[in-house]
Amino acid sequence: LSQRLSGVFDKLTKQGALSEDDVKTALREVRVALLEADVSLPVAREFVKAVQEKATGQAVTKSITPGQQVVKIVHDALVDTLTGEGEPGDLKIDNPPAPILMVGLQGGGKTTTTGKLAKRLTEKNGKRVLMASLDIYRPAAQQQLAVLGAQIGVDTLPIVAGESAVQIAKRAKQQATLGGYDVYMLDTAGRLQIDETLMQEVKDVRDAVNPRETLLVVDGLTGQVAVEVAEEFDGKIGISGVVLTRMDGDGRGGAALSMKAVTGKPIKYVGLGEKLDALEEFHPERVAGRILGMGDIVSLVEKAQETIEAEQAERMMKRFQKGQFNMNDLKAQLEQMMKMGGMEGIIGMMPGMGKMAKQVEEAGFDDSVLKRQIALVNSMTKKERANPQILQASRKKRIAAGAGMEVSDLNKLLKMHRQMSDMMKKMGKMGKGGMLKQAMK
Ligand code: GDP
Ligand code: MG
Repeated sequence: LSQRLSGVFDKLTKQGALSEDDVKTALREVRVALLEADVSLPVAREFVKAVQEKATGQAVTKSITPGQQVVKIVHDALVDTLTGEGEPGDLKIDNPPAPILMVGLQGGGKTTTTGKLAKRLTEKNGKRVLMASLDIYRPAAQQQLAVLGAQIGVDTLPIVAGESAVQIAKRAKQQATLGGYDVYMLDTAGRLQIDETLMQEVKDVRDAVNPRETLLVVDGLTGQVAVEVAEEFDGKIGISGVVLTRMDGDGRGGAALSMKAVTGKPIKYVGLGEKLDALEEFHPERVAGRILGMGDIVSLVEKAQETIEAEQAERMMKRFQKGQFNMNDLKAQLEQMMKMGGMEGIIGMMPGMGKMAKQVEEAGFDDSVLKRQIALVNSMTKKERANPQILQASRKKRIAAGAGMEVSDLNKLLKMHRQMSDMMKKMGKMGKGGMLKQAMK
């Protein structure tokens, strides 16, 4: 995707504001990206339409391309849609004992997530947690939770043979109250598909304990199915939030967007592996980046907006066009690079540039080189910076020594400056801003 989008960037014209065509071209690709990431078609369509209206006519930040700007707008809109109320991972668990009901299809990760969440509430929040399995259909299910509880040091409700799910839930409530627990978690049974008997059972459990949180646990890789499951459970049971599991896999997590868009219920946590500490609060920015496959471009744009002052860039551009590019300009460029995370940082952020980043690393061109180059410029006089040609051998020696380096280092820097300034002159001759901006991006 990155490549496809950068192709689009190249095609886009560079003007002060985003034209309708710019936006359309970029959004076409964004729509494909959303669908590839498993976002459902109606949600993707709706989303793109909303962004289109928002993006058209927006001013383009000088240091980035219109395409990058569109991606940033799309990204922000994604984050907006994905963000739920309150802090990420917030659960309503005051008023002990607070019941948390875990629902979802079989194999979605309910039992594992129950354990993960219990561990987290115990260790991070200092809560006393009791877990109970209501899965009376699979013989080993209650045992599975007991084993898990022993592993993480969280109590489980003793198993009593022959009870119904509602009976177990009531007993859990009683035990949690008597035992002074802060939270009790009810891990329900799942089916491979949604079925009415199961739904009725979950409803009965819900009515018996009146849960503070009803968390739907769904496999984040199942895309469209996840959305249907969310709609169904929310309609019939009423969920308070979603936990997306298997987000450690290759999936792009588009289900998150669809589920949030369709149900309006917040995604609270993501599961990132089978281990019991592989649970994180849901971070909208991360998933937004993942859905677009463009997280890095977004941070590049953000950094560019942060660090490059439009006015300064403009002024510099004019100087370049006139063929004026002195050591001060070079220094400003080097400092800009430092701010943006150094050579590696900048290259690493560009799509499809991974290889080049490696070469840069191998060539030993790291931030310390930038720092030393800046130090060299610093030890020149004002006059020398404006016109480095006047440097004599004796001055070169002094400058190098002043910065703690060899004359050969200084010569390299001077050569680099000469090459860059030649390039600037050539481009200045080739015409107005277009080419130059292209080269600078
Ligand atoms: P349940 O039927 O809904 O209770 O599902 P389980 O909790 O028994 O999980 C089914 C399988 O999915 C188990 O093998 C888990 O280890 C695995 N699993 C659960 N959550 C995750 C996750 O976030 N990442 C990965 N890779 N595997 C998970
Ligand atoms: Mg289970």
